[in-house]
Amino acid sequence: MIIIMSPNATKTQVEDVEKKLVGLGFQTHPIFGEIKTVIGAIGDKRLLNTHDISFMPGVENIVPIMKPYKLAGKELKKDPTIVKVGNVEIGGKEIVIMAGPCAIENEETYIGTAIKVKESGAKILRGGAFKPRTSPYAFQGLEEDGLKIMAKAKEATGLALVTEVVDTRDVDLVATYADIIQIGARNMQNFKLLHEVGLTKKPILLKRGLAATIEEWLMAAEYIMAAGNQNIILCERGIRTYETATRNTIDMGAIPVVKEFSHLPIIVDPSHATGSWKYVNALSKGAIATGADGLIIEVHSDPNNALCDGPQSLKPSKFDQLVSELKPVAQSVGRTL
Ligand code: PEP
Ligand code: MN
Repeated sequence: MIIIMSPNATKTQVEDVEKKLVGLGFQTHPIFGEIKTVIGAIGDKRLLNTHDISFMPGVENIVPIMKPYKLAGKELKKDPTIVKVGNVEIGGKEIVIMAGPCAIENEETYIGTAIKVKESGAKILRGGAFKPRTSPYAFQGLEEDGLKIMAKAKEATGLALVTEVVDTRDVDLVATYADIIQIGARNMQNFKLLHEVGLTKKPILLKRGLAATIEEWLMAAEYIMAAGNQNIILCERGIRTYETATRNTIDMGAIPVVKEFSHLPIIVDPSHATGSWKYVNALSKGAIATGADGLIIEVHSDPNNALCDGPQSLKPSKFDQLVSELKPVAQSVGRTL
């Protein structure tokens, strides 16, 4: 629920209300506006049946929140969240493109691809170092050695890095290298991991789970935010349906829905959504036209020999062509690229 303090409420009155709520077991998140202060209170509101706070000095109104996601929703914060990564802003006017291979395979090809995607206009470099796969016998990633290669690519290009963490025990390690920590689709409801990345100050790229509703996805964001980290970028990457022609089914409708109910930025991953490089171009255009704030695209210098997700990876030349084709699309919806 939200406690709206009256315009002339004093700081002490705000603190007294917060103290009372905390004493009742609520978590409080005050937002100090120019005229009014509102306090977001998270907890079981039935406790207020016996402890009425509406009569406390300075309290103007108490508004229950219907949506279960309070920090990720728009009731507490209407303005869009802009996640800043160095001088890149995700959720602002500019469409931000993240690109790179699925996994870091070796230094030479990774840095080569990093330079190419930068030249084409990518602002963030992707790459997986921890890659637990559907099969335990498939390539599992270079782990810390992969992160070290990413650091070298950052040095060479100046691009910020996005990479996935899959285990709570690796969060600190990944956070020392990553500019954005990725939570993969399969871990969207790994609540301990969500809490752990919520304790870091790094922006989090939160992918939608394979079978997650939009509400469950926003509740996953809520876990991270409740732990103290408000810098979340949502990523639609396709969900499981009965359709088998594509690897997953992209849910374009999720973009305007998320925009209606959440202030968090949302990007689209057309590579994992389709599993085929041939469809990446069309879906990228569709995502931007539908209101996405950015894209994360897999690019590999030699997709036929990629250790991971080759069939859905664009060659650098195709990626370059895609970015130039996306520019007028971005422009048509009032965005820049
Ligand atoms: C990835 O981005 O490398 C990845 C594994 O994606 P997802 O979690 O969406 O499957
Ligand atoms: Mn991949």
